[in-house]
Amino acid sequence: METRFDLIIIGAGPGGYVAAIQAARLGMRTALVEEDRAGGTCLNRGCIPTKAMLHAASLFREIQAGERFGILASEVRCDYGQLLAYRQETVDQLVQGVEQLLKGNGVTVLSGRGTLLPGKRVSVASGEGTAVYEAENILLAAGSRPAVLPIPGMDLPGVLTSDGLFQQTELPASLTIIGGGVIGVEFATAFSALGCQVTILEALPRLVANMDREISQNLKLILKKRGIETHTSASVQGVEQGADGLVCRFAEGEKEASVTSQLVLCAVGRRANSEGLFDPGAVPELNRGRVVVDECFRTSLEGVYAIGDLIGGMQLAHLASAQGIAAVERMAGKEPTVDLSLVPACLYTDPEAASVGLTEEEAKKEGIPVQVGKFPMSANGKSLISREERGFIKVVAEKESGRILGAQMMCARATDMIGEFGTAIACGLTGEQMRRAMRPHPTYNEGVGDALEELAGGSLNVMPRRKR
Ligand code: NAD
Repeated sequence: METRFDLIIIGAGPGGYVAAIQAARLGMRTALVEEDRAGGTCLNRGCIPTKAMLHAASLFREIQAGERFGILASEVRCDYGQLLAYRQETVDQLVQGVEQLLKGNGVTVLSGRGTLLPGKRVSVASGEGTAVYEAENILLAAGSRPAVLPIPGMDLPGVLTSDGLFQQTELPASLTIIGGGVIGVEFATAFSALGCQVTILEALPRLVANMDREISQNLKLILKKRGIETHTSASVQGVEQGADGLVCRFAEGEKEASVTSQLVLCAVGRRANSEGLFDPGAVPELNRGRVVVDECFRTSLEGVYAIGDLIGGMQLAHLASAQGIAAVERMAGKEPTVDLSLVPACLYTDPEAASVGLTEEEAKKEGIPVQVGKFPMSANGKSLISREERGFIKVVAEKESGRILGAQMMCARATDMIGEFGTAIACGLTGEQMRRAMRPHPTYNEGVGDALEELAGGSLNVMPRRKR
């Protein structure tokens, strides 16, 4: 077995495996170290299984509400076991696809736990023993794991992180979610639609605080309509085992309150997987457990790079992949293909929400005069056909030049449609340039055209401003 490579990557998540394929295509002899299955958190315990659950949950909700479309279904039930089998099959298919891609591109997969050693070497420990490999460059892509709050009761049976909740084989009757961030609201959407009573406790004054304020406000109303109880400015103090279940105690402003449920999910962010990754003689500079890198993803150790959740910042699969590609492009002396400053943020709730670039609030904070075009999706034909919840598409442009700076949307297919604005911002397009493209009818995407028309003075699909 070969022990010397051009590049060794530790971690086969969406950061590491994509970087490995790109490196191999750029002609580097590449090895990828992974102790689990390929695909990392995203494929095995994150994005993919969650979105599969959300898909099934949304289908369940749609069928139950089919009467408004003239579809009458009786005795619609959720078989949680079958749902989990569909979820696992989806994960397995994607993992196998990644394994084939790695093989097909000539990447050597080293199974075992990787540790960075001094002198650009990596040890790989498995049941079969430990082997040492060396490389010209090393890329660390070890990802992250769920954070656990330092409060009493977090070790009680039934108090879980997203990893633990995925392992449950039965649908809980009730679930309290600590943290109203992305994981919190996505799990709340899925579990509530499947029939579980969900309560969200969020410490900040609003849900998904990193997104546009209007998205947070709409989401809170929609979740309430679905029967999800939401407490914001609610700081959780501890969990106890009560007679009727797990009791979560929290302070909401001045008030002390509690909620009882069968299970508790702790979704308060993720921690970098830096523990145990380094030999004592090869520890790069760290900041609160995250590996510190420069703009080219170089760590403080020569020839050692790091990307993805391990370096902090926005912890998103697509960002990790883009960083992985950029890091190996730099190693190969090429300019990075993707603009890493533009990171789309997506919420796979029902309806979806997505955002890219600056919000109006952020532009104002930065002192940039902006113009905003906002289109209510209640005036969009396709949204009316599918009886979508209230939604909107908002576009933010620089006042003087008309250049698009950002977009936020909450509507069906928002996560698919945000890419159009990402392309526009990355290419410096103005609203007028975006309007040159015709949009097909009837589509949700027409709403993008309408928001751009609103930016230009008024969409033909809403009443003229003076009459509104
Ligand atoms: P997050 O940072 O998005 O949200 C955590 C929330 O927990 C925050 O709103 C925080 O205020 C709250 N919180 C912290 N301590 C609390 C306490 N004591 N009581 C009540 N609330 C408290 O983190 P997450 O939702 O755990 O997600 C982890 C990472 O995974 C994020 O970086 C996220 O972007 C990523 N992720 C992304 C997607 C997606 O893109 N759709 C989906 C899932 C996860």
